[in-house]
Amino acid sequence: MSGNHLMETYARAPLSFSHGMGVYLYEENGRRYMDLTSGIGVNNLGYGHPKVLDALNQQAAKLWHISNNFRIPQQEQLADRLCSASFADRVFFSNSGAEAVECALKLTRRYFNVSGKPERWRTIVFDGAFHGRTLATIMAGDGEKYREGFEPHMDGFDRAEFGNIDSVRNLIQDSTAAILIEPVQGEGGVRAASTEFMQALRQLADEHGLLLILDEVQSGNGRTGKLYCHEWSGIKPDIMVTAKGLGNGFPVSACLATEAVATGFITGSHGTTFGGNPMAMAIGNAVFDALTAPGFLDGVEETARYFRDGLADLASRHPKAIGSALRGTGMMIGLPAIVPNTQVVEAFRNHGLLALTARDNMVRLLPPLVISKQEVDEALTAMEAALSTLGA
Ligand SMILES: *Cc1c(COP(=O)(O)O)cnc(C)c1O
Repeated sequence: MSGNHLMETYARAPLSFSHGMGVYLYEENGRRYMDLTSGIGVNNLGYGHPKVLDALNQQAAKLWHISNNFRIPQQEQLADRLCSASFADRVFFSNSGAEAVECALKLTRRYFNVSGKPERWRTIVFDGAFHGRTLATIMAGDGEKYREGFEPHMDGFDRAEFGNIDSVRNLIQDSTAAILIEPVQGEGGVRAASTEFMQALRQLADEHGLLLILDEVQSGNGRTGKLYCHEWSGIKPDIMVTAKGLGNGFPVSACLATEAVATGFITGSHGTTFGGNPMAMAIGNAVFDALTAPGFLDGVEETARYFRDGLADLASRHPKAIGSALRGTGMMIGLPAIVPNTQVVEAFRNHGLLALTARDNMVRLLPPLVISKQEVDEALTAMEAALSTLGA
């Protein structure tokens, strides 16, 4: 085992894990880490969740994959449930976040095409945005490093300032079709859009006949204490994409739309081989059961508040290492580092905690939503020790 035959696309930590249980990951040698990354906001129900495991095992014994040339009852069921729980009327399932964003962009073009407005095809996007790594989504996202060397760049995206409604208004032209935004930017520094901004975007989109597309790949599926983050602002999008937590580690993504917008797609407009297969859907349904179980999301919100209070306390004791102006919503937590964020993440790792970085020198915490207050206390104690080693 060398790793020499893998393409050099990741800066990997010198760690590997043999198994996980709850909020913990274990190395082969038995060393335990608390995972405050959830595999980048994916394992929202932690590792080894009995009901998800049960759904996987039951479906695995019956049928893993069948093409979308046939009806897939589990897919119809999950679509019904996602629509009952949201603004949406129609769903297209795929396998990754970027694919779901691509689906939203394609649907937008088709929608305006069949509505007799093919001149509308441009999308307003934001600074700090991240929407995936395909040729289209690297253009929708911000960040030169993701685009470098991939010229010629795809046209069709105009970038506004996150949180500044005037900057959005100023970009609207006859060819504008949609506004695409993450309610909470993950990679972009755990920046949450304010309720006022989200409402202003909805209003602006309505005034100009634009579609509002929300990228809830990271902020969805209970991550912020609501099933979808936009519920906090009381607005409804026209299209929403989600992925990361939807399958708790099994690759599943979805593009949801209103009936009116979904009419853009007709038979043959779009497709996928793996998307929405019985295995993915059986797991997706089990994850949905867990997320929507009575009291679950309220518990997430409460534990998130407890964690945030603890982190603010911690920051007050280590002001040279971390700041107290926490970012994000619910269990999407940005802890502003004063020293380089990579130093904090490394110190945490040396004390058995896994954390992520994000823009603006943020330490990004995406704990499994099932984390208990006792486990939060354990994390805070380890963080205290870790920060002390930084001499701050
Ligand atoms: C992770 C992420 C994506 C891309 O998802 P992939 O599954 O890696 O393609 C898109 N948008 C947001 C907001 C994300 O966090």
